[in-house]
Amino acid sequence: MQNYDVLVVGGGPGGSSAARFCARSGLKTLMIEKRPDIGSPVRCGEGLSKEWMKEGELKPDDHWISDEVKGARIYGPSEKVPIMLTAEKAGNEVGYVVERDKFDKDLAAIAASEGADIWVKSPALSVVKEKDRIVGAKVRHNGNMEEVRAKMVIAADGFESEFGRWAGLKSIILAKNDIISCVEYRMMGVDSDADYTDFYLGSVAPAGYIWVFPKGEHQANVGIGVTISAMKDRFDVKNYLDTWIKKHPGYSKGKTIQYITGGVSVSKVKDKFTLPGLLLVGDAARLIDPITGGGIANSYISGKYAATVAREAIDSEDYSQTMMQKYEKMVKDKFQRKHLRNWIAKEKLAKLSDETLDKLVDVVSDVKMRDISVQAILEAILAKYPEMVKELEDLI
Ligand SMILES: Cc1cc2nc3c(=O)[nH]c(=O)nc-3n(C[C@H](O)[C@H](O)[C@H](O)COP(=O)(O)OP(=O)(O)OC[C@H]3O[C@@H](n4cnc5c(N)ncnc54)[C@H](O)[C@@H]3O)c2cc1C
Repeated sequence: MQNYDVLVVGGGPGGSSAARFCARSGLKTLMIEKRPDIGSPVRCGEGLSKEWMKEGELKPDDHWISDEVKGARIYGPSEKVPIMLTAEKAGNEVGYVVERDKFDKDLAAIAASEGADIWVKSPALSVVKEKDRIVGAKVRHNGNMEEVRAKMVIAADGFESEFGRWAGLKSIILAKNDIISCVEYRMMGVDSDADYTDFYLGSVAPAGYIWVFPKGEHQANVGIGVTISAMKDRFDVKNYLDTWIKKHPGYSKGKTIQYITGGVSVSKVKDKFTLPGLLLVGDAARLIDPITGGGIANSYISGKYAATVAREAIDSEDYSQTMMQKYEKMVKDKFQRKHLRNWIAKEKLAKLSDETLDKLVDVVSDVKMRDISVQAILEAILAKYPEMVKELEDLI
């Protein structure tokens, strides 16, 4: 049996952040990762905003930056004139395009350098409970079953998170319209623009979008996310992407060197993502931005918050639900309002026809990048398509 102050399950950005900040505060910390190689295989568009890094105490590093973009271009179904957004205004996925495997590995290395122990190829297989409190996990490590006991457990096991469910959290289960199924190709020899991250809306990707995230000159991650409630069979998503690529000679001439699939949650912030002794962070807590599908930054920040509350719980020997709710409050204060707004916008956008979307993009593209605001958009719609104000009222 192993004894730690904190056990972190999962070595993605959320786990590495939790492990880093726990270890830094002096807690004896173990992070376990089921895969043999942290960060690999990559399942990500690799878009990353910049503004959260100060709070996350991270410095941008050329080692994992593949491309730095000026902003985003958002195209309507007719793909005429895009909405141009600066990186600051474009949300969670715009700023850098990273090499995610190197990025995740660097985050784990930072956690290790702050003092956290790390076990790779070591999946948690079940929860260890004492009465209603989570006190550890059974872990397969070096071919043996180990019981790892910890005063606090932080589950950062990602979108497919099982740890929370094993522990008894039903509140993290998702509705069909809150799950996006993704396919992405890393493509070489394409006509992407290294200065912009591109998004394509409409029936090309029902209730989702197609993205082109440049990785330097003539290389890009070309991907698609479609809500599973709009899918008839599991090959739909790939078919949508292939159809779009075929229609774009600048991409159909490219060569695919990597094929990725994965899921993201696009829900509101859940009411409950803790139990006595257990905090869920990042994708496991469903903290992905409902409109962009970006979750790296939110995972990292929530990992930091979880470490703060883990420290406080251990200091006061209080592992009650009331103590765990301090973490839920920190997360909700940070994300709840924005995620609710973006969830409502996502639901509304999913129902707009291609024609309406085109008009919306047309109007907003007229507004200068630096002037984009709700008022500016409303005024532009009123001036150009007054009949649309009613339909778009709640979205705006
Ligand atoms: C196709 C796709 C594209 C995306 N594009 C972007 C993007 O461009 N920008 C962005 O910000 N976000 C993007 N995301 C979302 C982003 O990848 C996630 O939000 C982010 O990885 C969440 O970090 P995390 O640490 O919470 O979880 P993860 O990064 O998923 O890490 C969880 C870790 O836990 C490990 N694990 C799971 N179960 C166990 C277990 N039982 N025991 C031990 N270890 C376990 C997993 O192996 C994994 O390493 C994308 C997602 C997908 C699927």
